[in-house]
Amino acid sequence: MKTTRKGMLLVISGPSGTGKGTLIKLLMEQDPSLVFSVSATTRAPREGEIDGVHYHFVSDEKYDQLVAEGAFVEYANVHGKRYGTLRSEVYGRLEKGENVVLDIDVQGALNVIANEKEKVSIFLLPPSYKELRRRLEGRGTESAETVEGRMAKAAREISRKDRYEYIVVNDNFDEALSQVRAIISAEKHKRTRFNPDVPQE
Ligand code: 5GP
Repeated sequence: MKTTRKGMLLVISGPSGTGKGTLIKLLMEQDPSLVFSVSATTRAPREGEIDGVHYHFVSDEKYDQLVAEGAFVEYANVHGKRYGTLRSEVYGRLEKGENVVLDIDVQGALNVIANEKEKVSIFLLPPSYKELRRRLEGRGTESAETVEGRMAKAAREISRKDRYEYIVVNDNFDEALSQVRAIISAEKHKRTRFNPDVPQE
């Protein structure tokens, strides 16, 4: 069957502590039609992170050069480090009909929502501020001051949720994951993305 397929640019974001990273990882493992856009960052690799797989780890000079060349779809400072989505990770793949996943922060997502055509945007919400605080404290990696900073940032980010097309509350992780999968499945069947010719036989 001859079909027209166009890829979607899937933007998943939400405050830190909403389980975005784990959700994206599982989503990618379960759906081979999704490809991950590997961002460039100036932060140092964490243990187990591989250059070119988790991030393209670059120097500040290289990052400046990428900005000057117009190599980024969007870029932002997050927690004092610089991150950017590379055009080379996105456009060619969308043309090929692949679905490209962006794991980016809210500022970056708002830019993508404002400027990109084929985007599908999902905002992940924590079930409550109390639960968000519990998760941030539970990580054990943040000082009290950082937790307060993240909570204030989360409140600012949540105030922008109306810009997104879809909202998913991550109260129960499995449910949130299946809701995101349902959104992706429906979006794949939009006539503008999937328009097969019906054969005679
Ligand atoms: P981490 O350093 O923990 O991997 O990521 C920190 C934050 O930066 C996360 O919220 C992540 O989604 C965001 N981030 C990663 N890559 C990009 C990017 O290319 N652009 C923007 N705007 N944010 C990004």
